Parts: sequence; C-alpha cells; structure tokens
Amino acid sequence: MLGLMMDQPLLISDLIRHADRHHGDTEIVTKTVEDGTIHRYTYRDAHRRAKRLAKALAALGVRMNDRVATLAWNSYRHFEIYYAAAGSGAVIHTINPRLFPEQIGYIAGHAEDTVLFFDINLAPLVEKLAPLLKSVKAYVAMTGRATMPASSSTSNIPNLHCYEELIEAQDDKFEWPSFDEKTAACLCYTSGTTGNPKGALYSHRSTLLHAYAACLPDALNLSARDVILPVVPMFHVNAWGLPYSCALTGAKLVFPAQHLDGKSLHTLFEQEGVTMSAGVPTVWLGLLNYMKEQKLKFSTLKGVVIGGSAAPPAMIRTFQEEYGVQVLHAWGMTEMSPLGTVCTFKAKHAKASKEERYALQNKVGRVIFGVDTRIVDENDKELPHDGKAFGDLQVRGPWIVNGYFKGEGGDPLKKDAAGASWFPTGDVVTIDPDGYVQITDRSKDVIKSGGEWISSIDLENVAVAHPAVQEAAVIGIRHPKWDERPILVVVKKAGQEVSKADLLKFYEGKIAKWWMPEDVVFVAELPHTATGKLSKLTLRQQMKDYKLPG
Ligand code: AMP
Repeated sequence: MLGLMMDQPLLISDLIRHADRHHGDTEIVTKTVEDGTIHRYTYRDAHRRAKRLAKALAALGVRMNDRVATLAWNSYRHFEIYYAAAGSGAVIHTINPRLFPEQIGYIAGHAEDTVLFFDINLAPLVEKLAPLLKSVKAYVAMTGRATMPASSSTSNIPNLHCYEELIEAQDDKFEWPSFDEKTAACLCYTSGTTGNPKGALYSHRSTLLHAYAACLPDALNLSARDVILPVVPMFHVNAWGLPYSCALTGAKLVFPAQHLDGKSLHTLFEQEGVTMSAGVPTVWLGLLNYMKEQKLKFSTLKGVVIGGSAAPPAMIRTFQEEYGVQVLHAWGMTEMSPLGTVCTFKAKHAKASKEERYALQNKVGRVIFGVDTRIVDENDKELPHDGKAFGDLQVRGPWIVNGYFKGEGGDPLKKDAAGASWFPTGDVVTIDPDGYVQITDRSKDVIKSGGEWISSIDLENVAVAHPAVQEAAVIGIRHPKWDERPILVVVKKAGQEVSKADLLKFYEGKIAKWWMPEDVVFVAELPHTATGKLSKLTLRQQMKDYKLPG
C-alpha cells in the first residue's frame, strides 16, 4: 500500500520560487567583477531575472538536458544562471577558470557544452579557448553593453552575446517546467590526479536533499537570520551547495566575485554584517594574516566553515580565541555534492576540557543523516569504529555519485558482502565510537614506514603550528630499510627564520618518535592544484632527485 501524500518532484526552481515568495526583500549583494563596486538587489529581483534568462536560453536554442557552461566568479549573475539553466531542465556545468586551457578544452568537449557564459576579466582566456570548444554554439559575456570586453580581445569568440541585452530582450512571464526529480541539473568535474577529469552529474533530487541537509543545526546551521558569504567558488562543487541552501532558508547572500584578498573580504564582512562564511584553509590564511597586520576584528561574524583540505589546528584556535568565531571543520568531495561530515559537539562534550574540545575539532566530525560510512582494510574487510583502526573510507547515500558522466573511468563502486554499493573516497581515516571521522591521508599520500602508517596530515599540522612556518607538506621518500620515511617541505613566513633543528625539536613530545621527519627542506613556495589544495603529486615530481641525508 502506498502512502497518500502528494507526489511533488524536488526541483531546483522551487528553491528560488520559495525565496521570492517568502524572502522576497532579502538582499543578494555582489562586489562586482567589472569594477569592484557593490551591486545590491533581492531574491525577488533574482527570480524575475532568472525567468527572463530562462527564456533567453531557450531563444539561444538551449533544450532540456543541454549543458550550459560557466567560467565565472561568485556573483548575482552566476546565481541567476544556476537557477535559469537547471530550472528550465538544462544542466549547468561550472568550470574552474584556474585549470590549464587544455584541461578546460577537454572538459567542455567531454561535457558537450552548448553555451558558455564568462566573466569579462576572463575574456582573454575565452579568446584562447574558443578554437578548442567545438561544441559551444554561443558565448555570453556576463556584463552590460557599456562594459563589454573590447573587440580586440574577443575577435576569436564567435556568436558573442551581452548578458544584459539577452535579459532585456525577454519578459518574466514564464512558468518553471515540471519534470522528473531525477533529471540531471549540475555537472562538476573532479580534477583527478590520475587519468582524465571525471564528471559528477547531480540531479534535482540529490541537490535538494543535500540543500536540506546542509541547513541542519549540526551541519552548517543556516537560517533566515544569517548573512552568508561563500568564499568557496561557485565553480567548486556549487560553492558547497550554499546558493541552494541560502535560497531554501532565506539567508542573505554576499558574493565577493574575484576579490578574495584579505582587505576586500574583511571590508565586505563588516559592511554587509556577514554572520557565516565558508572556504578552504588557503583563503583564511590570507584573511587572518591581513587582519593581524592591520589589528582588525570581526564585529558580526559568528562562524566559518573550513573544508576542502585539513583545517590546521592553529587556524582553528586563532579564529576561536582571537576573533571569537566558531570553526566548523567539514569534509566532503565533489562526488558527494560535497558535504559528508561536519564537526560539531554532542551534549556529552559540554563538560570536556578546552584541550579535549580542540582535539575533537581537529577531526572532520560526524556524518550528516543521509550519508553512511564504513572503513575497510586492503582486503576489503570492514574495520571497527574504535578511533584507532586506519582504513579506506567508503560512503553511500542519495547525494553521492553512482558513476561518472558518460561512464568515464568505469564503475567506481564497491560491493559489500550483503550486495550494497559503496563509493570509495580515497581517504584514509579512523572513526571513533562517537562517529567522529579523522582524515589521516589520501590513500596515495599515506606514508608506509616499516609496515605501519604515518599520517602526513598530522605531521603537517604540527609544522604549521610553528610561528615561523607559513605552509608545510610532508611526503614519503623511498628508504632501503623502512620502505618509506617522511620528509617535511616548508615555506617560511616572510621575514622569519627557523632552522631544521628548531623544527625537529618542535615535534618532540607531539608525535611518536618513529614519525619524526627524516629531513626538512625549505622552499620558496609549494605547488597547488587549481582548487587551491596542496599538489603532492607535483611536489613528489619536483623532489624526485632528492636523496635522504646519509
Ligand atoms: P574535491 O573533490 O576536490 O573537493 O576533493 C575532495 C578531497 O579533499 C577529499 O577526498 C579529501 O581528500 C580532501 N578533503 C576535503 N575536506 C577535507 C578536510 N576537512 N580535511 C582533510 N581533507 C579534506
């Protein structure tokens, strides 16, 4: 017997319709791409313009399931494209402009993008890319007529349109279509470290379930009283779903576009009364350094989400103790839409000591309902959740991929003894009896010494707690006796000095003796991926001729 409840599909267009109807006068603020001035309007305005844009997309020939690509920063226009494309049944494909042009060419070709929207400061990149993008029939510069990029820098871009002119040519008499909630809505490629990039193709249903889950008090805790500034780019896993969760709750949105330097961010936080923000550790490092130099404080910020790579313990302390901002350490991945776990306390931790609470916050927290986890050893045997056993983390749930776009890379899933499918994350973790997950490594980064595992993340966290260290990476180097031994690669803070002996001394008492790095190498900078993460693959290539001392 079926339940007698309405069978209404979960569609992305319902989010913006809800935000318009119930939070119509709540603001969406953007520091604009063009000249950094402030653009301000409301959810009601955004909804009207998204409808006009949906009609413009149809006029450009975009049909159900067609891929609409963006090369764009976080802004109100990007927000409109999110809703116009997915809402009308097309698929929004967000591309990271920091990838190499050849990678973008590959991704756009694989996705068969039909229209490409781009921010005008990326016109030189698009000019270079256009000959590679065989499937793209129309290009749209995300600006008004007066600020269209000069024809000298767009001569290679065929069928170029002006965003504001496309919108002006349409009215907002438009009803969002209804269709199956399992229809594809958004496409994001993972920057795979081996093989070609692979596309995670989210559905309307997965996006809405993820948006609901993200708002929960033990997840990102979002409400209509919040002012959210997503620092995490809208081209990186949909800015962790914030453009959807904010519409769902009616939170005010503040978009920084490409202005991510400490000064621009701090000014926006203060001017707009930002209460919550989210981003990778690298951006926070820039902001915190600037605030320290300028002796600034936050007056409205209550929380920051740190994820994408491990939040350094020193950063968690600085936010909480010097600025009174609560840190939410989160973990996820492109294949998970992206949220998997968030670190918040349980009632039983109310009496925990300060140091116990910090120790817990170095973990990435507990799963959000909807995500199930298990850890397995190299023979796929399930390991206990005792906080000690290290293993490969596998996940399942309604916002986790069950394959990649066009079957790229084959079937990624693993089956358990009962026949249930799991997605292997490639992360090596422990899970404690309370369910708190600790990421110790990527499976390919873990260091195996004498048959035991050494966590490179733990060693990096100690190094960055040293006052003279800006950034640190630990990699395994071949060793004749131990198989592999860790070495520490360090970037010093400007104007600061520290020696190898000082750093090794700093480790004493903080780690097991056999985890001690064999050597310390100082470098001017460390390599990063296009999403701002440390690229250990590149670092290992750079260090391939390195020899351990002695
Ligand atoms: P991406 O798909 O580019 O978002 O990368 C996902 C990967 O980033 C995960 O599988 C982890 O290896 C890493 N990651 C994300 N969040 C964290 C975190 N809080 N701590 C450590 N690693 C993280």
